[in-house]
Amino acid sequence: MNDTQASERPGVDVDVDVIVIGGGVNGSGVARDCTQRGLSVAVFERNDIAFGASGNNSGMIHGGPRYLTYDPDVTYSSCLDSGHIQRIAPHLLFRIPFLMPVHRDRRGAKLALTLLDAFFDLYDKYQPLKRGKPHAVLTADQLQQLEPGLAGMTVGGVSFDEWGIDGVRLCVGNLVDAAENGARVHIHSTVTDILRHDDGAVRGVRYRDLLTGESGSCTAKLVVNATGAWAPLTATLGGLLPEQARIRPGKGIHVFFDRRLTNYAIAVRAIDGRQVFLEPWQNMSVIGTTDTDYYGDLDDVVATTAEVRYLVQAVARVFPAILEARPIGTWAGVRPTLYDWGKSPDGLSREHQVVDHAAHGAPGLYSMIGGKLASYRLFSEEMTDVLARRMGIAQASRTHVTPLPGGEELIDPISLAEDAGIEPIAGARLEYRHGARATRIVERMARNPREAAVVCPCEPVLEAEVRYVVAHEWAQTVDDVSRRTRLGVGSCGGMRCAARCGAIVAEMTGRSPLDGRRMALDFLESAARRRLSVVGPVQAQQEALSLAALRSQLGSTRAIERPTGDLGPTGLGPRAAEPRAAEASAALPALDPTRGVPA
Ligand SMILES: Cc1cc2nc3c(=O)[nH]c(=O)nc-3n(C[C@H](O)[C@H](O)[C@H](O)COP(=O)(O)OP(=O)(O)OC[C@H]3O[C@@H](n4cnc5c(N)ncnc54)[C@H](O)[C@@H]3O)c2cc1C
Repeated sequence: MNDTQASERPGVDVDVDVIVIGGGVNGSGVARDCTQRGLSVAVFERNDIAFGASGNNSGMIHGGPRYLTYDPDVTYSSCLDSGHIQRIAPHLLFRIPFLMPVHRDRRGAKLALTLLDAFFDLYDKYQPLKRGKPHAVLTADQLQQLEPGLAGMTVGGVSFDEWGIDGVRLCVGNLVDAAENGARVHIHSTVTDILRHDDGAVRGVRYRDLLTGESGSCTAKLVVNATGAWAPLTATLGGLLPEQARIRPGKGIHVFFDRRLTNYAIAVRAIDGRQVFLEPWQNMSVIGTTDTDYYGDLDDVVATTAEVRYLVQAVARVFPAILEARPIGTWAGVRPTLYDWGKSPDGLSREHQVVDHAAHGAPGLYSMIGGKLASYRLFSEEMTDVLARRMGIAQASRTHVTPLPGGEELIDPISLAEDAGIEPIAGARLEYRHGARATRIVERMARNPREAAVVCPCEPVLEAEVRYVVAHEWAQTVDDVSRRTRLGVGSCGGMRCAARCGAIVAEMTGRSPLDGRRMALDFLESAARRRLSVVGPVQAQQEALSLAALRSQLGSTRAIERPTGDLGPTGLGPRAAEPRAAEASAALPALDPTRGVPA
């Protein structure tokens, strides 16, 4: 079977031209680009949009200064694509000015500062591509003035400029755009088989809706495996070997704290010399990240106490106030890095690759391997170029110039808040997440003033936004609403908002109030698990008690794991509990064949 035969079968009707498996940033990006070039598309996402790496990363659309030393092409393409992403989604950006102190106790500290200066001279050449300012060399006094909380004697340091983005909103924007151009988007629908003709050519997928339990199939000319760290596993659903879509999965975690501790992000070296950071993000502070080989369950990636200690130890050496700060949660994801043997995870290439499985006897099936958030649009364009060529479409990509939904113009959040009669902070949050489309949410409130009610006081999230993301962004559960709006992410951990949100989601999706309460409990339990590695045993026990009380009201028998056993000093103040359930499940072989452990 040659390439042409695979995509052109006279007399064979298909449901869509292209099926995209995976609703992360690469799958969403391909779906958007395909629809803009006139291809019909169906997307299947097993969990929720941005459930994987795309919703659990550091959010930097940077060139990655450290990649300059071994992967300058990645720095170039990421900076270039960062500029494009900034143009199409201006509302989703936030500036991250970094400080990198050089401590006197470092061997050859003065020389190190001179070398850093020279290194950042080189990085500055890429900065105009992504609207970054050039670096500056700072004296010890200047560093101290900018961040008085910095500890230790320094010989000075450098500043450099980066941009961040909300990865979840980026994925949602791509998929909303794709859907408005005709794509069918199936969330909570796992692909269980990739279907092939007798001659090996791909013919579609079989899927199961994990909320309703219903199964179905969808036929297509071409299928894209955009499942990130799941890619090897997904390849096996089409009868291929996992090695034919091989990645090297690298786990990374972040810890977040209940307030902003600094004005600048601070880059510090961890005990093993790796670079980690402390960064202000919206109304909180974040520390990240680790990079370790991962062999556990990809659908259940949770930070461990050991990983938290590693990060806190590194940051505390330079910014001791972190030890007094209140950690309120963690997030964790798995990088789908290009496979390589014998390198440390940190040293792996961040390049990306399109794998054409025609070489493996499955024409029409492709896997997207590797990549970065910062270059997702370019990767998606390259993938779509291949698909378009196969379909005989000559049109070039325009995703670098057409704005994402909400990115058409920047609106003033203060006027938005005044028009809506809401707090300025609520207006700013709406504008950040939805850009110009925030006016649609305000229009909802004008039609129904009760929707101006605050559902999540920590953030704050309004009822109108909850209803909007259910109606227009495929949110089906409290967890989905939280991912899109940050509901329940703040210091109360969802205790004040999950129940109300569950009631709204249940009412809007035709489910019972009891279902709404169950959804809320599911959300609270999963948030509590993600907190276990950072809260002390007293808080963990109190949370376990409150959740048990809620569970008994609902007649549910599920339980979150209580902290037990070996509780050592964490560097976080009180002794924290190990997320044993997560580790236990990671150690077990996956039972569901579509769930699982990467090759
Ligand atoms: C800790 C961490 C920090 C990072 N920091 C940065 C950064 O600062 N800057 C940067 O540029 N990059 C960063 N990255 C890398 C970046 O996040 C990833 O390269 C990118 O998000 C990968 O996107 P993806 O769409 O390929 O995969 P994912 O986002 O993982 O999406 C794959 C999706 O496939 C779905 N899926 C799996 N199996 C099936 C199935 N059978 N059926 C249907 N759906 C399925 C999953 O549920 C998942 O949602 C970081 C990554 C991590 C983990």
